Amino acid sequence: MVIPLSKPDISTLEKKYVLEVLNSGQLSFGPKLRRFEESFCRRFHVRYALAMNSGTSALHIAVKTLGLSAGNEIITTPFSFIASSNCFVYEGVKPSFVDIDSCTLNMDVSQIEQAITPKTKAILVVHLFGQPCDMDQILSIAKKYDLFVIEDACEAIGSKWKGRRVGTLGDIGVFAFYPNKQMTTGEGGMLITDHRKVYELASSFRNQGRGLNSEWLNHEVIGYNYRMSDLQAAVGLAQMERLTQMLKKREDVARNYLELIDQYDLPISTPFIHPHCTISWFVFVVILPQRVDRQKIMDFLIKKGIQTRPYFSAIHLQKSYVNRFAFRKGDFPVSEEMAKRTLAIPFYNQLSATEQKYVIEQLAFALDRGEKND
Ligand SMILES: *Cc1c(COP(=O)(O)O)cnc(C)c1O
Repeated sequence: MVIPLSKPDISTLEKKYVLEVLNSGQLSFGPKLRRFEESFCRRFHVRYALAMNSGTSALHIAVKTLGLSAGNEIITTPFSFIASSNCFVYEGVKPSFVDIDSCTLNMDVSQIEQAITPKTKAILVVHLFGQPCDMDQILSIAKKYDLFVIEDACEAIGSKWKGRRVGTLGDIGVFAFYPNKQMTTGEGGMLITDHRKVYELASSFRNQGRGLNSEWLNHEVIGYNYRMSDLQAAVGLAQMERLTQMLKKREDVARNYLELIDQYDLPISTPFIHPHCTISWFVFVVILPQRVDRQKIMDFLIKKGIQTRPYFSAIHLQKSYVNRFAFRKGDFPVSEEMAKRTLAIPFYNQLSATEQKYVIEQLAFALDRGEKND
């Protein structure tokens, strides 16, 4: 038996909606897509929502609609999933990385201003692992220097910064629906915004450069096929209807882990919990003590049927980034240090209390052995 790292939560409702689409014969640009997008407008109180075939596509489109291109720079974090930087590197925009805060694992806002140059056009924030970034500071810096703010909320659907929904605080917000996220469409993403112009451009880029009301074979700009099918939207619509309940389950699982870790008195750091914010739990990542050999812990756990994974590697040290931008070891020391010590443990809605206890017991055992081995 293996306890996997993550597992999607699919009910009969998703199956029912998918069948409705299949039976309708309208597999693209049908009513399910419209309803899925409308459900985002309602839940997030935004004017526009556009579904895409991935979170990465939605981020890429966000960058395109703001006109960011070669010669520009975007301020962002090097401690994230690589798509949050790739989305603008596609356009020749240079990453201007800012190291992270070791407590929240998000961009250290006190270092943003010194990274701003005349070429800086935007801040792309990542609410990592569902942890909201300090949006008061970020929005005030953006205002002072006239920068756009793109929120990569791909790991943070439902998170709130001081009561305000992340994804709605900047110019554009993006969510993602890969199967390990809080909600899934198999593959998929969503761009939300209040700006009419962004919406019009994004609709066009998503759909081969077609204008909003133009003929099917009129292409006004060079666009892409980043459309989401109605089959995916059907899954997404059902997931949206169940989202509040699913997020509650994740919250319960996370709280139970925190209690267990406390009970077993493990020498690890658990996710920071800001008293005025709401975390939407994406993964459960702990930080191991410096002296522990992470690979040995992972090897031990997998033998016990427990899947774990380092989360994340620093983006600036990926070969593709070293080759293109000549980043070096030591450029962003906190990100590099954290990248060596993080460990994601199994986390999903259906994880039982018994399984969680087993995971923590085995982790305790592994840590104990790991320390003695030193
Ligand atoms: C999941 C994720 C994305 C988007 O990923 P897709 O697989 O393209 O949907 C973007 N940024 C972050 C931080 C993510 O975790």
